Amino acid sequence: MAASTRGIGMTSARTRERLVLRLKEQGINDAEVLNLIRSTPRHLFVDEALASRAYEDTALPIGLGQTISQPYIVARMTEVLMADGIPEKVLEVGTGCGYQTLILAALVPMVYSVERLGPLQLRARQTLNSLKVRNVRYRHADGGWGWPQHAPYGGILVGAAPVEVPQALLEQLAIGGRMVIPAGRTSEQELLLITRRSETDFTRKLLDRVSFVPLVEGME
Ligand code: SAH
Repeated sequence: MAASTRGIGMTSARTRERLVLRLKEQGINDAEVLNLIRSTPRHLFVDEALASRAYEDTALPIGLGQTISQPYIVARMTEVLMADGIPEKVLEVGTGCGYQTLILAALVPMVYSVERLGPLQLRARQTLNSLKVRNVRYRHADGGWGWPQHAPYGGILVGAAPVEVPQALLEQLAIGGRMVIPAGRTSEQELLLITRRSETDFTRKLLDRVSFVPLVEGME
């Protein structure tokens, strides 16, 4: 592994181990997810000036008013998405810097990732290409409409919060599939697990109170 990927000093193995311990204490217990958090070079997804903070359990700015998700949230959403088995295809809404995308790509055969901000998606694509991640397809679009061409998805993971769960995403969820999505107004968002039991039967479970950037309509 290249030194840049392995990390040194504040991005070293010891720093990462501390993060993993913290996530365990907070209730993350999927060993595969914890291993991925340990081995994923989060410092490569943030500005060099912030690299020393990359293994803190906190969201950090990635430009254009957006943030890289907090490791706890990434771990929790991934763990819940995979809890019923590994889906063939996952739709991710909100590529951002691509950190969550990379974690998903390490677990599932194919990830379809949609981002509305072109420059962010371009950078994410470059970072993931440099890490030789090949099983991700990218789309520059409003992810509130999903990505119908590849539906249905066994898993849908949404990294930005709509006020209400978009109908298009519900429709693109496979029967038996799971969607993890934050929803609600800024001060009262809830992280939800939505399971599709049949064509018309969806169940909702409240996982956490959370604070995500809003899902914004249209693209730039
Ligand atoms: N998991 C990502 C989260 C990034 S923040 C990471 O760790 O980097 C949420 C992202 O969702 C932002 O990049 C934002 O631009 C994007 N987003 C917001 N509304 C969107 C929409 N309607 N369609 C696609 N992406 C959207």
